[in-house]
Amino acid sequence: MSKRILVTGGAGFLGSHLCERLLEAGNDVLCVDNYYTGSKHNIMGCLDNPRFELMRHDVTFPLYVEVDEIYNLACPASPIHYQHDPVQTTKTSVHGAINMLGLAKRVGAKVFQASTSEVYGDPTVHPQVESYRGNVNPLGPRACYDEGKRCAETLFFDYHRQHKLRIKVARIFNTYGPRMHPNDGRVVSNFIVQALKGEDITIYGDGMQTRSFCYVDDLLDGWLRLMDHTPDDFTGPVNIGNPVEMPIRHLAEKIIKLVNGKSKLVQARPLPTDDPLQRCPDITLARKMLKWEPKVALDEGLAKTIAYFDSLLKSNKAMSRVGR
Ligand code: NAD
Ligand code: UDP
Ligand code: UDP
Repeated sequence: MSKRILVTGGAGFLGSHLCERLLEAGNDVLCVDNYYTGSKHNIMGCLDNPRFELMRHDVTFPLYVEVDEIYNLACPASPIHYQHDPVQTTKTSVHGAINMLGLAKRVGAKVFQASTSEVYGDPTVHPQVESYRGNVNPLGPRACYDEGKRCAETLFFDYHRQHKLRIKVARIFNTYGPRMHPNDGRVVSNFIVQALKGEDITIYGDGMQTRSFCYVDDLLDGWLRLMDHTPDDFTGPVNIGNPVEMPIRHLAEKIIKLVNGKSKLVQARPLPTDDPLQRCPDITLARKMLKWEPKVALDEGLAKTIAYFDSLLKSNKAMSRVGR
């Protein structure tokens, strides 16, 4: 059955893919974004669809609309973007959550929160299970994001207990794919762009810190299963990510090989403050409750992402030639 669905942060990397998926399923989609890190280009493909509506709005301000479901994604996700204006980052997570929960309460909507593996901080339990309470530095440069997202989770569970709201909280681990921002400093986009340009690959620290990378299509399958195919009493939090873990250095080597490039790895700077040394999701709960696990192998997902950045770089080059 068709639903009216609000997607906050819908013009961002993950939000734009989500809007497409929800439209394909026959829903009405209201995309709300202030374009802080997102862009209209990301949702160009949706604009002709009469079921799609776009609204410029900052979620730190109240929003009065009538919807059946809310996916709350609004929040810059890359460290350089969320640390650029840290006060706004916390406001977006906390005031944004309050406003979306207030809206959900008024209209009786089911509400999804895009939480993050950063709630575990620099984890001392490995792989990370949902019951682990985390190791976050509340004073460091990542705290605006980590603590903002932790407080948002608190608000979701308090609205659930106090106001009986239907909530779904996903803890998302590093995700990659087409439409990542080429300049947002995240590791996958940085390494691919550097490898395609034949530039040095910038390793921070010794490159032995680990991450686990999930392809965007897999991630969205997990979100939709959580929202549409779990009972109301299953709130999460549930880890959604790919459990194949690797040191960043290995990711760099893999990308150089896939682009058939000659870039060298350089230790560009020390490990940033509070950068987690290891990260890998335990997805036992997602396997059980969502009947979900990732399917796209890293080589396959990286190949699609490389093709996206390759055409983006070529079109930018063509544009700058026209400009001259
Ligand atoms: P993104 O930066 O591409 O998208 C975030 C979107 O939110 C952008 O379109 C931005 O303009 C919008 N936004 C920011 N502040 C806003 C505000 N105050 N009001 C309205 N819109 C606002 O990032 P993404 O990778 O698509 O991440 C989407 C969500 O998923 C975020 O909440 C992020 O924390 C979460 N997440 C992502 C990852 C990942 O690996 N991509 C991992 C963990 C969690
Ligand atoms: N809110 C909103 N849209 C709505 C309803 C509420 O943006 O449709 C915002 C409003 O700013 C409010 C917040 O959500 O302050 C929390 O709402 P709630 O009803 O929980 O508390 P209130 O502050 O209204 O007592
Ligand atoms: N990183 C790196 N080189 C880069 C960008 C990132 O070595 O050019 C490292 C970063 O220090 C971190 C990991 O890659 O250890 C993942 O960084 P990202 O910003 O993508 O996401 P995070 O998981 O830290 O939020």
